[in-house]
Amino acid sequence: FVHQLADESVGMDELLISPLRLEPQASLPLPMDLYGTARANSSGRDLTVVAQRDELLAAHAACVVPVVAEAKAEDATGAVARAVAAFGAWNHTPVAQRAAVLRFAADALDAALPRFCTLLVKEAHKTWGDAVSEVREAVDFLRYYANEAERVQAPQTLPGPTGESNTLRLEGRGAWVCISPWNFPLAIFMGQVAAALATGNTVLAKPAEQTPAVALEAVKLLHTAGIPADALQLLHGPGETVGAALVAAPGVAGVVFTGSTQVAKIIQRALAAKDGPIVPLIAETGGINAMLVDSTALPEQVADAVVQSAFRSAGQRCSALRLLCVHEAIADGVIEMIQGAAKELVAGDPSQLSTDLGPVIDAEAFDNIQRHVARLSSSAKALLPEARPAQALPNLVPPQMFEVGAIAEVTQEIFGPVLQVVRWGGDPMDVIRQINALGYGLTLGIQTRIDSRAQALAAAARVGNVYVNRNMIGAVVGVQPFGGEGLSGTGPKAGGPNYLQRFCAEQTLTINT
Ligand code: GLU
Repeated sequence: FVHQLADESVGMDELLISPLRLEPQASLPLPMDLYGTARANSSGRDLTVVAQRDELLAAHAACVVPVVAEAKAEDATGAVARAVAAFGAWNHTPVAQRAAVLRFAADALDAALPRFCTLLVKEAHKTWGDAVSEVREAVDFLRYYANEAERVQAPQTLPGPTGESNTLRLEGRGAWVCISPWNFPLAIFMGQVAAALATGNTVLAKPAEQTPAVALEAVKLLHTAGIPADALQLLHGPGETVGAALVAAPGVAGVVFTGSTQVAKIIQRALAAKDGPIVPLIAETGGINAMLVDSTALPEQVADAVVQSAFRSAGQRCSALRLLCVHEAIADGVIEMIQGAAKELVAGDPSQLSTDLGPVIDAEAFDNIQRHVARLSSSAKALLPEARPAQALPNLVPPQMFEVGAIAEVTQEIFGPVLQVVRWGGDPMDVIRQINALGYGLTLGIQTRIDSRAQALAAAARVGNVYVNRNMIGAVVGVQPFGGEGLSGTGPKAGGPNYLQRFCAEQTLTINT
């Protein structure tokens, strides 16, 4: 991907990514001052500004990942009490002022791009391309939610009979627990925190224990930008202890969680068991995301979309493609093309510009993926049997592909670069029904040249994000609101116009005039 992008416009010895802001084009009706993510994610062609390679590599050489102190479960109650005490003042700070702080933070993050990229490469094994996209996404979240809070929290006058005024106003709910994953340790962390803070809530942030340093730097940046210390507190540590203690602490007004379906259910049960108010949960979880390819699809486009969707970021995205359902008439040709493209991918040291897939996050993830691969090796046909990492680094998983007999056999999300392929014939609606029956509902790819079919299949699919004739990852803030249904999450969609309302308490004020 890095070199694919680089090949479009620049030589390999130049860094393809620009830390300069690309202005949205008039033809692209972006709702805000996006940082160029839309085009960076969908095509490298528009990344015309190149440079700063030396700055980035120097920052990488100098980067020391900070060591963080873990919180104890006993710290949770006091931290929540401080967040509850800080809520009144922050909630009564005018929304324009809160938004200004977040915009200031966005500019600071924008300026600190090299530092954050190096942390993402070192701590989360991101490739440079993924790291830059992630910093941009985090900047987008800050700007988008700043704008959205001003829109959503503007008092609305509602129609009513003469002699009566009706106003709807939205405010923060209180202290929110934000539990974020290691796969987007900056973007999702920042998205959750910014949404809660923008709307007047205070935050207890519990980042994934695999990526504490990125979170620490992000919190420092937000405090420097003007978020009061008690309005944003960071508690490191395992979910089982610190996360659980935060969720259980008295006074929590809401929980926003991104991670596994299993943990989302544990949180939901814990909240239901608490005394006191009913506490809302926003959960964004995983998916067995499928791509349906019919016989009219363009094989080159399919191969490109599959390779990006299944293997980019080493498959460590909730949105990643897990199950390719390809029509039997074109299956052989499509599979052959994917095999050819996948063999070109370089799995290796993420600090090298030529690397497409870095190591997976840790040994536990590696072992888990290997267990699935061993199971598939004995029950399914290996389509990339000779896949080997280019370098002997720990936890490297090269792209893998297996042909299985039926959609119903694919019952578990494998969070890595492992793709399962099924051939189908007959009615594509049957395929969608089988995909729906898996119970997840995050992303779906459709590859067809029949527009009416794409529309009908999308309408029948119980998923949050449908991508037609392109890859199915890299949702852009404000452009492709992201999130699923069923086992994939509760909604509302992050980066969309209905997200912030869930962080708010609503009051209707009726006055007899
Ligand atoms: N928003 C990311 C994407 O569209 C995925 C987020 C996640 O993995 O949770 O690729």
